[in-house]
Amino acid sequence: MKVYLAEYAGFCMGVQRAIDLAHKTASEEAAPVFVLHEIVHNNSVVSDLAARGVRSVDSVDEVDKGTLIISAHGAAPEVIKKAQAKGLKVVDTTCPLVSKIDRIITKLTGSGHTIFLLGDKDHAEVRGLKAVAPEVTHVFRFLEEINNLPLVEGPAALVSQTTQNIKFFDEVVKKIKERYPQAEIYNTICDATEKRQTAAMDLGKQVEIMITVGSRNSANSKRLQEVAKTVAPKSYLVDNANELDPKWFSGVSKVGVTAGASTPDILIDGVIERIKSFGEGK
Ligand code: SF4
Repeated sequence: MKVYLAEYAGFCMGVQRAIDLAHKTASEEAAPVFVLHEIVHNNSVVSDLAARGVRSVDSVDEVDKGTLIISAHGAAPEVIKKAQAKGLKVVDTTCPLVSKIDRIITKLTGSGHTIFLLGDKDHAEVRGLKAVAPEVTHVFRFLEEINNLPLVEGPAALVSQTTQNIKFFDEVVKKIKERYPQAEIYNTICDATEKRQTAAMDLGKQVEIMITVGSRNSANSKRLQEVAKTVAPKSYLVDNANELDPKWFSGVSKVGVTAGASTPDILIDGVIERIKSFGEGK
């Protein structure tokens, strides 16, 4: 059995930056140090940060003193203001590409645009972006929802969560343009997402089964697995090597592996090694 790793897989610039900043903060700042939600959506990374003494909280209300780390997904502007008003030291690890969308929304809504934001409404990134201009930002996830978005006559714009499916975005653009011919289109899917999805599709066409390594609450890992499935029907998402089922590989000679932007190399290597062990003795 041959195992191939996609050309682009694993940590992106934004995730690496957030983890490095969080580790630096954990070692340099006096306790207590907190992180709002998860630094990035990967169980192993989250456990490692907890082991360094950083406590995860769901709200600024849970913190009265110390340092608060904002995750790579960002946070609503008022959350950061509230933390600063409480006298907390704020370490903001928001990915610069998420901050860029924040600036786009700020500028557009300042000139009277209505924003249609393609994304998972419960995801931290999307919640933070909607909070920039909540009254005029409408979040949707599926094509069918577009018909239920409010009709607007003035300027409008489409923006996307950084980790959406690149092919699906094209379908969304068509449908948005039908309903809102005046809409300006901002493809804000990040470069790391695009490269990983394209590489997963390229590899998926050449193998019999695709394994995506990533946590189930990781938006970019879920999208990657969905994209891989469009070309390799046997496509699975696993958090780590222990979740691999040997039965999936029965009679298989070529396996492709990809990994979300929040997946550490050690987990990718572990998955590859275990898959290879299934092929031994054949
Ligand atoms: S996936 Fe994209 S937006 Fe998210 S952290 Fe990585 S580079 Fe930044």
